[in-house]
Amino acid sequence: MKLTMATNIYLSLGGNLGNTLEIFKNVYPILEKKIGPILQFSSIYQTKAWGNTQQADFLNQVLELRTDLEPQALLLELLSIESDFGRIRKQQWEARMLDLDILFYGQQVIQESNLQVPHPFLAQRKFVLIPLVEIAPDWTHPILKKSIQNLVQKCPDVSEVRKLDL
Ligand code: AMP
Repeated sequence: MKLTMATNIYLSLGGNLGNTLEIFKNVYPILEKKIGPILQFSSIYQTKAWGNTQQADFLNQVLELRTDLEPQALLLELLSIESDFGRIRKQQWEARMLDLDILFYGQQVIQESNLQVPHPFLAQRKFVLIPLVEIAPDWTHPILKKSIQNLVQKCPDVSEVRKLDL
């Protein structure tokens, strides 16, 4: 019998095509079935699209889950869930139905060609940090050695991240 250790992970959810709120609601049970129990949900936030301002606003949320999956297996599941939701990859800043990113996998640092954890841009993006600080203010970034609260205060991103009143 193989003993696996469950790990707490933080995932970022984003989308700006179709009915994103409905998509988020539909993805929670799929994440619970394929990845593991959801321990915490942040609020959902609305942000202007990055890089291509002609696009519709994005909705973003961060979840904490507990998983038995190894990082590469986790990434494969996330990519398959994303493609099930009909994302079409055309250009870098394309509109997307559902984007799932691994922000943290416990305190592990992963530098592989197809997977970097902690997510390399998280400290620069308010649309990730603002939902994250709601559920993990004291979580330490294992490379920067700073708390999420601290990273929010230092983040140079000036874009407006607005909490949705649901
Ligand atoms: P994007 O849709 O722009 O987030 O890019 C998706 C690709 O980024 C995936 O195919 C992964 O191979 C790669 N990637 C690298 N690091 C991560 C991460 N921490 N979480 C999710 N995808 C990642």
